[in-house]
Amino acid sequence: MKPIRPIILAHGGAGSRTITSSQAACLRGALQVGYHLLDRGSSALVAVEQTIRILERSGLFNAGNGAHRQLDGVRRMDASIMEGERLRAGAVASIEGIVHPITAALLVMEETAHVLLVGPLATKFAKYHRIELQKRQPTRGRLSYGSMLKQMTTKGDRHGTVGAVALDRSGTVAAGASTGGIDRMLPGRVGDTPIIGCGVYADNETGAVSMTGWGESIMRVAVAKTICDRLGQGKTAGTAARWVLQKLVTRVNGSAGTLVLTPRGQFAISHVTSHMAAGWWDGKGKPTVRDQF
Ligand code: ASP
Repeated sequence: MKPIRPIILAHGGAGSRTITSSQAACLRGALQVGYHLLDRGSSALVAVEQTIRILERSGLFNAGNGAHRQLDGVRRMDASIMEGERLRAGAVASIEGIVHPITAALLVMEETAHVLLVGPLATKFAKYHRIELQKRQPTRGRLSYGSMLKQMTTKGDRHGTVGAVALDRSGTVAAGASTGGIDRMLPGRVGDTPIIGCGVYADNETGAVSMTGWGESIMRVAVAKTICDRLGQGKTAGTAARWVLQKLVTRVNGSAGTLVLTPRGQFAISHVTSHMAAGWWDGKGKPTVRDQF
């Protein structure tokens, strides 16, 4: 049998903005770290986590150090991770004050019998595991609940979620994503990112998917799992991605971008937004990073 060639894909969000040169450099660096891990025999899961950690730490994206605030001025973050061999998954939602929600999600998967922890008790779990804390941010003036409701947007555009999918030498795929949510969201709002089957999915029988975009629309179409189901029906990564994103637009007026990777190393980066900051690397030449695919 031909040896499996590892590959990693990463994104820094989909929306109307173009990629900055520092975001592009950060994505390239993250892809290099992820690929080198795979090349040295690390699992797809580890490569996905480590790649996302670099993006979270940078403060250049809407995740980890760069996470947006909810309308009450508090950063509440969501993340999830999944591997395709045994369909193990972990996630956190509305977690506060830590640099690496993706590591908290991985620890939920590895250290607990659960898949999803939420809110202050997810934060407590992360602190117990000594996940690095964010520098304290000055708090903003408080809004009444009524004015928060008035400010809330229906279709946020300030995206910037980060995510990755990878294929390792053993043929296992993994997917992960981490976010600070969307613009002007009510306190307590949770998007697609920590919901397995919506923001991420990974199954060695079909493929791995990491989503970014308007979470409320992505959840209603269960996009990540639906793309994997299309792969299972024999569609290529590109066809499966385009079909489901088209459904997202026509059925719920949604917007999103996706990374799709099959266990055979076939992949697609697809978006129905004007831009998506993303890239991939399989060790040949230099990593490819752009904001349109
Ligand atoms: N999907 C994320 C959310 O809705 C946002 C994003 O991808 O930028 O929380």
